[in-house]
Amino acid sequence: MNVLILGAGQLARMMSLASKPLNIQVRAYDVGANSVVDPLNPEVSYGDLNSGIAFANVITAEFEHITHDVLAQCEASGKLKPSSRAIKTGGDRRLEKALLDKAGADNAKHQIIENKADFDHALQTLALPLILKSALEGYDGKGQWRLKETDQADEIWADIEAFFHGSKSTVKQAVIAEQMVSFEREVSLVGMRDIKGNTKVYPLTENHHTDGVLTVSIALNDNAALQAQAQQMFDSIANTLDYVGVLAIEFFQVGDQLLVNEIAPRVHNSGHWTQQGADTCQFENHMRAVCGLPLGSGELVRPTAMINILGEDSVPNAILDIPSVSLHWYGKTKRAGRKMGHINLSAATNQALFERLEKVAMLLPAQAFSDIQEYAQKLVNKG
Ligand code: AMP
Repeated sequence: MNVLILGAGQLARMMSLASKPLNIQVRAYDVGANSVVDPLNPEVSYGDLNSGIAFANVITAEFEHITHDVLAQCEASGKLKPSSRAIKTGGDRRLEKALLDKAGADNAKHQIIENKADFDHALQTLALPLILKSALEGYDGKGQWRLKETDQADEIWADIEAFFHGSKSTVKQAVIAEQMVSFEREVSLVGMRDIKGNTKVYPLTENHHTDGVLTVSIALNDNAALQAQAQQMFDSIANTLDYVGVLAIEFFQVGDQLLVNEIAPRVHNSGHWTQQGADTCQFENHMRAVCGLPLGSGELVRPTAMINILGEDSVPNAILDIPSVSLHWYGKTKRAGRKMGHINLSAATNQALFERLEKVAMLLPAQAFSDIQEYAQKLVNKG
């Protein structure tokens, strides 16, 4: 089986690594360079998109911000999984909100803004504070504004207008105004749906962000009611999209209720822990799903956490001296804030995992992993 992945970053790399034992051959399309490469060795080039489509039995994606002409060309080949509709929905918050409404998945009160009249209307109908998010091209908190007081409105609108004018997108820009949710924590559910419509999910993970970017994910499996609620929303969203592959849903937890923040039609950073903590990792399960193979179990094998390595190309080797710690580098050139790799760590119990997380955090350079020590300490004390 040959698979072409749209996108040639770390997610394509990890899908390729997980595919080797299944004898699935993977090539990745570097969208910016219009070049098909080996995701494990990007210097090896196999030509342009047409040659990639000819090579592939199946085409899939590692990110959602893919130009519509590339998606159309892949879909026309009959090989694209998930569908271009699903990929576009993940890359456009307007389509995403419409999907959530259709699937009956609760989310923050919101309004779509395409012009000044919409903006004024949102200010009248939604309660402050608001978070305004660009419909396209936004990720990890980029392309976002926070409006706390009405006297910020003029300045923020001027900024949004400039953002619209500066957009290179061929699709009409918009901003979604969303009421700020006062949440206890952010969690996510990664799951998969196969070609026949069967679904499986991993346990919910608790996600810790630093400056809007995910830094730690922990799979705990300690709240059956919350897990059931998340799974029900997963099934509803995945079925509405007739989805095939791994799909991630990010939630805000408010009391015992989950509100969807956003979806990602692909393997997800908050699912990297599955490489060491689940029977079958998300990367293998995505490949199984799109290749028409049965899904592997999403059961938690042991409590597991992940720490993102951002902007650093080395970490102290001493972390590997700690049992059940593994290191995954992406082979990228160092750049400030760039996702360079991650650390997975497991333990027999949740408390032992928190203590291990604290131990690893204490070995990491404090300036690069600023608040992870503090977060780990809080988990240890909370128990
Ligand atoms: P997003 O790009 O939508 O994931 O937003 C980035 C971050 O902003 C999230 O991880 C949240 O911490 C925060 N955020 C986004 N939407 C809301 C909201 N409606 N209420 C409160 N915080 C939010």
